[in-house]
Amino acid sequence: MLEVKNLVKHFPVRESFVKTLLTGKKKFVHAVNNISFNIKEGQTLGLVGESGSGKTTTGRLVLRLIEPTSGSVVYRKKDITALDRESLRKLRKEIQIIFQDPLAALNPYMKVGDAVRHPLDIHGIGNKKERHDMVLDMLSRVNLEPTSDFFKRYPRELSGGQRQRVVIARALITRPKFVVADEAVAMLDVSVRSQLLDLMLKLKEEFNLTYLFITHDLATTKYICDKIAVMYLGTIVETGSFEEIYKEPAHPYTKALISAVPEPDPDLKKEKLIPKGEVPNAVELPSGCFFHPRCPYMMDKCKTEEPPEIKLSETRTVKCHLFNR
Ligand code: SF4
Repeated sequence: MLEVKNLVKHFPVRESFVKTLLTGKKKFVHAVNNISFNIKEGQTLGLVGESGSGKTTTGRLVLRLIEPTSGSVVYRKKDITALDRESLRKLRKEIQIIFQDPLAALNPYMKVGDAVRHPLDIHGIGNKKERHDMVLDMLSRVNLEPTSDFFKRYPRELSGGQRQRVVIARALITRPKFVVADEAVAMLDVSVRSQLLDLMLKLKEEFNLTYLFITHDLATTKYICDKIAVMYLGTIVETGSFEEIYKEPAHPYTKALISAVPEPDPDLKKEKLIPKGEVPNAVELPSGCFFHPRCPYMMDKCKTEEPPEIKLSETRTVKCHLFNR
């Protein structure tokens, strides 16, 4: 359904004219560095990494909310990066996003009913009565009250969980087929988080959705993702299923991420791997393997040679010289 190929996004760093003149070159934040992946229809791909790993930028590039520096995003045989404005506007019915912060995502002056109906107005779907009925139907599908009283409430009058359900209802009202969920449950309490994950799974079945599920929390991917891609400094360092990656992580960065997940079973021993130092800034990327300044397994060639993507099995890949012998 979706094929991302050699996607790159570099943001120019805002510096004073004098500084640029003195250094002689413009600087860039290398947010996404030549990544490729694909998602099959009905699948959920989890994009996992710390903040600053480039996963949110990737989600926005996939929907072309921002323009890529280079690379392509092909959705059902259409290259999204090459579409004109009108074709892109029409396609937005089919591809949607659920944002992390429901309070910021909702207009504080727009009532719930109007907010959920808004995409139908934009795309000219249905008449007034049909739109009203579609909103009622969608509210009940996301387990909100389909009543005129609830219709008239403002976002500030709702709990965090209710607000995120409204955001989900608004994203799904045009019956999209592909949804980017960007840290969709990260800001909610743990108990509400599991309800929302259950809801997203239920809606996936009902509407035959395909998700790109962006999260910093590897444990969350267990419940919802068929496949995981681990990101570090704008590159994908490992892919595989949750079971494969969680039980036997291959990349040292993935090992570190997993060792940071609290283990409820005290008898289960996990290798503790704490990487050295901090994540380097994305303006001056390390040479060779981007993880080499922090990697406990670093070898000489890691400093100079970028590791190739190595296929470990039909379902797994890793970018690390440890597997390239
Ligand atoms: Fe560590 Fe080298 Fe593998 Fe990079 S390529 S993760 S530095 S062992």
